[in-house]
Amino acid sequence: MSEEVRGRRRSGSLYRNGAAFASQIRGEIRGKLHAETIVVGGGIIGCAIAYELASRGEEVILIERSRIASETSSAAAGMLAADSEAFHTTVMSKLARESRTLLHQQKEQLHLLSGIEMGLQQHGFVTPFRNEDEMNKYQDTRCADSLTEQIWWDHSILHREAPWISGKTYGALYRASESELLPVNLARAYAGAAQTLGAKVIEGVQDVSLTADANGIQGVETSIGRMTCKHVVVAVGLQGGEMLKQVGLQMPIIPVKGEIAAIQYAEHDADYRPDKTVYADNVYIVPKANGEVWIGATSLPGRSDRVVTVEGIQELLASAASWVPGIQQAQFLRAWAGVRPATPDGLPYLGACNSIPGLYTAFGHYRNGILLSAITGSLMADLIAGHSSEELGIDELCPERLSRKEIIH
Ligand SMILES: Cc1cc2nc3c(=O)[nH]c(=O)nc-3n(C[C@H](O)[C@H](O)[C@H](O)COP(=O)(O)OP(=O)(O)OC[C@H]3O[C@@H](n4cnc5c(N)ncnc54)[C@H](O)[C@@H]3O)c2cc1C
Repeated sequence: MSEEVRGRRRSGSLYRNGAAFASQIRGEIRGKLHAETIVVGGGIIGCAIAYELASRGEEVILIERSRIASETSSAAAGMLAADSEAFHTTVMSKLARESRTLLHQQKEQLHLLSGIEMGLQQHGFVTPFRNEDEMNKYQDTRCADSLTEQIWWDHSILHREAPWISGKTYGALYRASESELLPVNLARAYAGAAQTLGAKVIEGVQDVSLTADANGIQGVETSIGRMTCKHVVVAVGLQGGEMLKQVGLQMPIIPVKGEIAAIQYAEHDADYRPDKTVYADNVYIVPKANGEVWIGATSLPGRSDRVVTVEGIQELLASAASWVPGIQQAQFLRAWAGVRPATPDGLPYLGACNSIPGLYTAFGHYRNGILLSAITGSLMADLIAGHSSEELGIDELCPERLSRKEIIH
């Protein structure tokens, strides 16, 4: 790391706060901020895009209305389930695998530039079954290319490799490449690294509205003044649909609430602690790098509150204990809820808005935004550099696709 980068990292470990930043620069820069690209939204997606742009030497400002990773990204389990998830299309499945690889490649550099450890672990995922019938039904729902990434563990292999799993388990599929990480750490690492590379990361920026005219996007109006730019990337997760309405575009978002719990094993029970992620049909159990085990998640479409219910957590813990009985002796730490940003066709809105030159969207990642963060950053930077969606093979993710197909009435 060069002296310059080290110096920036030292002075740039805290992102700028909108209010403080505004008063600091009042009269001087206020109302005159300019960058090639403004990224709106400091969740995992906005942070990944800002990092990728900054690492390519692009001038970028990231604005976040609250704190970095304060919304959905802070609720995630952090699984990079590229082989285990049932993706809607082969394009999504390919992007998921590429993104998992990219995250592994970025790990060292992000740590170096931000000083933040993302807690990435590759211990593989186990999908268990109670009987042969259950396993066959599951296999029938999987697309052919996902089958190559898994191996079958019969009862005896399973109990050798995962002695903490219930003795009643018939067998399991094991996927060795699956990984997981600490999502808030990753988002902060992206933001910190982007800042070290010269990006401005400003938290607490309120009242953001997009400004566009007949020539395309002009910038954004905000609580700390006007910012001008060539490109705006809207990466505000759940709020994406509302923000796009400001410029007359329809990109509906469906909230899907999820609850999740954290437990911890006592040291003398360490032998019973799962050392691989259990990815079952009704629950997942994820041993994290910080020593906790996260158990998730409920799925409640149409719900956008963050209330954690007794019923939700009770169901999760009961399902988890049916696979890993030792969980019942572990200490309950806490539970939380978040809201996934889903779309009507299950695909994220990723690309350039053809009707407003300079405007890009990157939201609607539903239940895989952490996994897809790295590839989203890379694709958005490619698009901004002038590559087309067609060239990048992501035409089916075009932000205006639903209005084109007249799905929206
Ligand atoms: C329970 C649960 C478990 C999950 N588990 C996983 C998992 O294991 N693996 C995985 O890959 N994914 C998982 N997900 C999904 C993942 O969390 C999301 O897909 C991802 O966090 C979406 O990131 P985002 O940056 O688009 O949204 P967010 O994290 O919500 O970020 C958007 C940001 O934009 C900001 N913002 C909003 N409006 C404005 C505005 N007007 N001006 C400025 N800023 C604004 C918000 O404050 C927020 O910080 C899970 C989700 C939940 C709820």
